[in-house]
Amino acid sequence: MKTTLNLLPLNEWGINHSDRPLLMSGPCSAESEEQVLETARALMKLDVSIFRAGIWKPRTRPNTFEGVGSEGLKWLSKVRQETGMKVATEVANAKHTYEALKHNVDVLWIGARTTVNPFAVQEIADVLQGVDIPIFVKNPINPDLELWIGALERINKAGITKLGAIHRGFSSYGDSAFRNAPNWQIPIELKRRFPELIIVNDPSHIGGRRDLLLELSQKAMDMDFDGLMIEVHPDPDSAWSDAKQQINPVQFAELLGNLRIRSKENTQLEQSKLGELRRKIDYFDHELLEILEARMKVAGEIGEFKRENNMIVVQNNRWNEVIEHSIAFGQTKGLSAELVSKIFKAIHQESINKQTDIINRVLS
Ligand code: PEP
Ligand code: MN
Repeated sequence: MKTTLNLLPLNEWGINHSDRPLLMSGPCSAESEEQVLETARALMKLDVSIFRAGIWKPRTRPNTFEGVGSEGLKWLSKVRQETGMKVATEVANAKHTYEALKHNVDVLWIGARTTVNPFAVQEIADVLQGVDIPIFVKNPINPDLELWIGALERINKAGITKLGAIHRGFSSYGDSAFRNAPNWQIPIELKRRFPELIIVNDPSHIGGRRDLLLELSQKAMDMDFDGLMIEVHPDPDSAWSDAKQQINPVQFAELLGNLRIRSKENTQLEQSKLGELRRKIDYFDHELLEILEARMKVAGEIGEFKRENNMIVVQNNRWNEVIEHSIAFGQTKGLSAELVSKIFKAIHQESINKQTDIINRVLS
């Protein structure tokens, strides 16, 4: 389904921010007035435009800290008054949204566990009718781009044009280097479909560990994300939620200092070199497609043979041979097993589809 979003550019949002990245930082959870204000005082000196703090926390298990609730909204007002930063919190239902709006929270975000639920998102969108503040939508916990887009559309249809997306990674079962797998191709596709949409990366929830923050943030910047949401706490180890991934303001300043913001434009010299290399890539892409065409023709001939001899389409031995040989050969060419296996699985599936059509063709 083709959709468009009606979006206002970031420089018309009424938020002070340096060119790039837009920084949204603060503790995972608001814990006390002192903790919130102490963090905010440190962050206001670091070019942070939006101070974040969770007030209602969607925790996986009961009997854990589930947020301080509405009381924390007053602490956010104090942050705004004292530091001039915009303040933001997460809303998961209509009640949270009413409460946050009543306390003039400047920016709201919808969490990953809420984006998965169209009823909850619609309920929030209904409360936002006629409201003109920035809203960010985190990706759903499952890797479903359409569901993410659907939530953005619901909020946009309520009249919100200061709209952004936050990439916080996707859940999976079992051990992984990340708390939530980044699946970078999903936000990249979101950006391709909606080039004007502001996209912020949340390395804290992707990595789940402080030592991954710089690498993930750098990657996001190199992929042209507009901003970063990073959890900062005055004493991360004693945080009431997400302790392992939070950093203190000094570590945050260090991270920002180490981040390399590369230019989007190229000098003329770079551009001509880049143009030359891109032409080479275009040439090889054409070659690849022509080879695929030739391969697919042969697959079709094999299909005809199987049809005439009444043979089944998939023969496991042959497929194992093809994939094993290709992976081994690819490795001698410096191509990872993962890449070769993905490409060949896709090609194989297309051959199977073609051959199945052929052997089932009804002669008229
Ligand atoms: C958060 O930002 O603290 C949070 C709960 O995030 P997510 O919805 O990405 O889990
Ligand atoms: Mn958190």
